[in-house]
Amino acid sequence: MAAKSMIIDNSRKLGFDDRFRFSCYKGIECFNMCCSDLNLFLTPYDIIRIKNNLGLPSGEFLEKYTAWHIGPETGLPVVVLKMLNGRCPFVSDEGCRIYGDRPGACRLYPLVRMKSREEEYYYILVEDFCAGLKKEKEWTVRDWLRDQGAEKYNEMNDIFMELVLGMYSSGRRLNDEEMQRFYLACYDIDTFRRTVREGVLPIDVDERVLKDDEKLMILGIQWLKQSLL
Ligand code: SF4
Ligand code: SF4
Repeated sequence: MAAKSMIIDNSRKLGFDDRFRFSCYKGIECFNMCCSDLNLFLTPYDIIRIKNNLGLPSGEFLEKYTAWHIGPETGLPVVVLKMLNGRCPFVSDEGCRIYGDRPGACRLYPLVRMKSREEEYYYILVEDFCAGLKKEKEWTVRDWLRDQGAEKYNEMNDIFMELVLGMYSSGRRLNDEEMQRFYLACYDIDTFRRTVREGVLPIDVDERVLKDDEKLMILGIQWLKQSLL
């Protein structure tokens, strides 16, 4: 497969009320072309949504559908979706099989989010095959985020990114034991839950939090912040 041409158009910095043209629908000439040959990073919240959509425990989902790498400077484990014959394992002739729980990056597309403590803005990711960028329909960034259900993802991903950015600023590199702890609390949430319940980890937690994936994800990230930063 030829490499895809992908350029972030950083000549236009889009705020929430700025407009861009885009339309995507079943039957468009490029339908599903964006769902192959991807380097798709998954956040803790992406994983919770997809594994629940598939009805799989996180460990089984991670083993079957993902690969992980270690950031060379920080030692942070990074999870990516494994392609199947060059395509996303969830794409079908009808479109995305996990559409209601697709990852945050798929929701934002064709936008790319930039966020710092001071500001949040977006760029457009231009892929030469994407006919949707040439259609007439206009969106404000705000309306696009709402339409795609991306706001909740941004909120949950920000909680994770605070930990990641904290690790970068600390300048330290995780050792093997810390790396496994990070992987467990951030990505393998069902195993993390079992470990906490069994009292293997020194975390005091209410059963209501343990039963709720989102609350448990936040707790795990807070615990990592306290123990790693
Ligand atoms: S998760 Fe869905 S939208 Fe995202 S790349 Fe896969 S098939 Fe496409
Ligand atoms: S319009 Fe763009 S986002 Fe939609 S199917 Fe085509 S390539 Fe994918």
